[in-house]
Amino acid sequence: MIGMYDVQKHFGDLHVLKDINLQVPSGQVVVVLGPSGSGKSTLCRTINRLEPIDSGRIEIDGVELPAEGKALARLRADVGMVFQSFNLFAHKTILDNVTLGPIKVKGMRKAEADKLGMQLLERVGIASQRDKLPAQLSGGQQQRVAIARALAMQPKVMLFDEPTSALDPEMVQEVLDVMTSLAKEGMTMLVVTHEMGFARRAADRVLFMSDGEIVEDAEPDAFFDNPQSNRAKDFLGKIL
Ligand code: ATP
Ligand code: MG
Repeated sequence: MIGMYDVQKHFGDLHVLKDINLQVPSGQVVVVLGPSGSGKSTLCRTINRLEPIDSGRIEIDGVELPAEGKALARLRADVGMVFQSFNLFAHKTILDNVTLGPIKVKGMRKAEADKLGMQLLERVGIASQRDKLPAQLSGGQQQRVAIARALAMQPKVMLFDEPTSALDPEMVQEVLDVMTSLAKEGMTMLVVTHEMGFARRAADRVLFMSDGEIVEDAEPDAFFDNPQSNRAKDFLGKIL
């Protein structure tokens, strides 16, 4: 479970997270929507402390994430993150991209890491590409490798920040399919996306952010069919 309590964050004078209180219970899938600049990426990045917060508390399964040091590196392994840009290691094979984390951070033996890596590549449907380099794969395939790489750390929660925004349209669905199956398997997920079909089908809950605040927090059907705030109505009017 993800817990955020009274979290405040500024960039200079800009108040980007305004007293965020959010609990995502284990197994829940939360989709975060909101206009550009509303703080969605910042919210994600604070959860694994890629961005420091000014005040408040962030917990994963009841354990507060330390601000820095070895303990942070260890706990950060509990929080998998997938970004818009895949950030794969360009000179490593697909399999090595997936096994590097378990070997370096968790001290897993190579044979064991390879076995885990192959299981994960099977799961995202690209085991046959194991010996290729990232540049030899399509964008959708690379993003699936990025998901497998995050899963290799056996995270407690997964954060996705617009994972399909950089993909050609025909590759979006294959990535959403992997995310949907993860959701069905009970992964705790926070997903920033503009894919409204995914939000409706896969989310247990939709958060709508505007100006650094969580303005709405509702079940998908309730949010899409009957948004409460003018800001959400305005947003949905523009995108639907
Ligand atoms: P988008 O939909 O465009 O990705 P977002 O909702 O993810 O937007 P954030 O990236 O979280 O928005 O940014 C929130 C606000 O904080 C924006 O006004 C942005 O310009 C500002 N911001 C983000 N990162 C930084 C930074 N490192 N330094 C200064 N300002 C920042
Ligand atoms: Mg963003």
